Amino acid sequence: MKDLMDLHTHTIASGHAYSTITEMIAAACDKGIKLLGITEHAPKMPGSCGILYFSNFRALPRERMGISVLFGVELNIMDYEGNVDLPDDLLREMDLVVASLHTPCIHPGTVEENTRAYLNAMKNPYINIIGHPDDKRYPVDYRAVVESAKEHGILLEVNNSSLKPTSFRGDPTERYTRMLELCREYGQPIIMDSDAHVDVAVGEHDCAKRLIEEIKFPEELIVNTSPDKVKKYLNCYKNKI
Ligand SMILES: [Zn+2]
Ligand SMILES: [Zn+2]
Repeated sequence: MKDLMDLHTHTIASGHAYSTITEMIAAACDKGIKLLGITEHAPKMPGSCGILYFSNFRALPRERMGISVLFGVELNIMDYEGNVDLPDDLLREMDLVVASLHTPCIHPGTVEENTRAYLNAMKNPYINIIGHPDDKRYPVDYRAVVESAKEHGILLEVNNSSLKPTSFRGDPTERYTRMLELCREYGQPIIMDSDAHVDVAVGEHDCAKRLIEEIKFPEELIVNTSPDKVKKYLNCYKNKI
C-alpha cells in the first residue's frame, strides 16, 4: 500500500513533544511522506501554545525539502455540546483541523454523552478529522459516529500511537475493528496518522497497517494512498474548490 501522508503530528510547541518543525519535516522526507500535517494541541491542553501561535501560520512556508507541509491544530472537544477551544474565524484560516477528546479537557461521560460530543463537534464546518476515536475512557456508539462523519464529510482516524503497546488509551483493536467494519459498510474513508510527538515517529503507521490488513479493509477507503483522495476533506483545499 502506498502511504504518502501523515496529517496529525506535534512539535515542541505542544509542550509535551520533543522535535522542531524542521526536524519533523526532515523525518517525513526520509520516510517518503509527501504531505505532512503539523497539528499542535489547542490552548486548553495544559502546556501547549496560545492563540497567537495559531494566528501566525502565514509566516510558514508550505513547501519545504520537497514536501508539502500543512499547519493546523488538534482541537479539544470541551463538552458534550461539541464546543472546541479555538474560534471559527481562526479555524477557517487553517490548512487542516483535527478534533479529539482529551482527559484534561473533557470528563469521560456515558456512551450517549461521548457520542453526542463527537456528533455535535462534527457539525463544525472547519473540523476535518476526528483524532483517535478509540479511547477506552470515552466509549461511543460507532454506528452514529461513522454515519455522522459520512454526512459531514469528515475523516475518521486510525491512530498509530493508540495501537502501540505503550498506549495509555487501552488496546483499541476491538474498537477500531468495529469502527472499520462500519466504515466499510458506509463507504466512509479513514486516515492513518502517527500522532508523532518526536521526529522518529513521523510516518510510523505500522500498527494501523497491520490491523487494516488483518481485516482486509478496502484500500480505496484509505486516503493515505493518494493526496487527491484527501483534498475534499481539508480546509486548505476545500476553500479553493
Ligand atoms: Zn490527541
Ligand atoms: Zn495528537
